[in-house]
Amino acid sequence: MACTQKNVAILGSTGSIGCNTLRVIAESDGALRAKAISAHSRLDKLIEQAVWLKPDYVIATCPEKAEKQDWEGLPAGCQLRVGEDEMIKVTQQADVDVVVAAIVGAAGLQSTWAAVEAGKTVALANKETLVMAGPLVTTLAEKTGATILPVDSEHSAVFQALQAGRQDEVSRIILTASGGPFRHHSLEDLQDVRVAEALAHPTWKMGPKITIDSATMMNKALEIVEARWLFGLTPEQINVVIHPQSIVHSMVEFIDGSIIAQMSPPDMKLPIQYALCWPHRLAGCGEKLALHEPLALEFEPVDHERFPAVGLGLDVARAGGSGGAVLNAANEAAVAGFLENRIKFSDIVPACRTVFDEHPFETAPGLDRLLELDIWAREEVSRRWM
Ligand code: NAD
Ligand code: MG
Repeated sequence: MACTQKNVAILGSTGSIGCNTLRVIAESDGALRAKAISAHSRLDKLIEQAVWLKPDYVIATCPEKAEKQDWEGLPAGCQLRVGEDEMIKVTQQADVDVVVAAIVGAAGLQSTWAAVEAGKTVALANKETLVMAGPLVTTLAEKTGATILPVDSEHSAVFQALQAGRQDEVSRIILTASGGPFRHHSLEDLQDVRVAEALAHPTWKMGPKITIDSATMMNKALEIVEARWLFGLTPEQINVVIHPQSIVHSMVEFIDGSIIAQMSPPDMKLPIQYALCWPHRLAGCGEKLALHEPLALEFEPVDHERFPAVGLGLDVARAGGSGGAVLNAANEAAVAGFLENRIKFSDIVPACRTVFDEHPFETAPGLDRLLELDIWAREEVSRRWM
């Protein structure tokens, strides 16, 4: 028995993380139960998931799309709820043990906040929440007793490796990055990247937004900021290294020079099950590493000229305050623009850098102010680059 039965609410169940979470639950031998599932679009898929796992609640967050959907196929015993407020109510119910925050982008902030406010265990995939409002969210968690457990593979690796020593013995963490599909592209080649090329990630299968973030390496910028707040590290303690095989998911170096790494084939089911079952583990979740065959692991430094996003992430982590919310919003606007062919691939990171550098910086903004700056940053990107 890996862990006692837990009721899980999956926010964003139809996405890449959401679907992997449901697979973990289905394979958990009754240790985990899907209590509630939510989606914004692709509601046919949401119904399919309801038929499969019979949750108590099925939540459609977009009322217009919910209205147009035929809900005939919803199994008896599943209650349909519509709208974001309903999702939040269900999330905060006493019989929900774990909330999986798997909505993409700033759209996930409000529900993640609500789960933390209710003192839940939050399996956090939605890194954007910590990028936008890291200090506010971690302070709230301390107050309510909520536990935030990382789903992001790098942060799960760090979380696992940290258990090898004391917090005051950590000298630094080393986040690994695959380098994405354009690891060997010259600066010139990066100018002409098309949407389909950027959506083809060499090692991970993920939703479109994070796939583009991986191609620009903005994903690593967001992960630096995420790690800063999640683990209470200084930006100087956070390093990034390119590791094309995506086998070593990240590392922790202790003061004696010992480095503890977490390794496994690239499969999000592993960090998901760890966040769902911590401090236990589920048996047989995903492929095992095949060590009877030759396995070469490579590590190389980041080329900051071709991938300036990593340096930008470190600057944003150093700045704190309003920086993360502005970076996140600028990036979301630029990625959406790129997917609609309205901004060039090679302009995404420069647009984020300019909006971050020029924004009216504040050291300790509240949530309302962060949301105002989020809107401002999106408008700036739109006005100046599209
Ligand atoms: P996705 O695009 O595949 O799925 C997003 C989910 O969010 C869907 O269920 C969608 O219906 C829902 N959603 C979208 N907009 C919404 C809105 N406005 N309101 C409510 N729900 C909404 O995304 P994904 O790749 O699964 O990523 C989800 C989160 O996990 C992101 O924050 C991403 O950075 C993070 N993450 C993903 C991976 C991965 O392997 N996919 C790895 C690490 C971290
Ligand atoms: Mg990651």
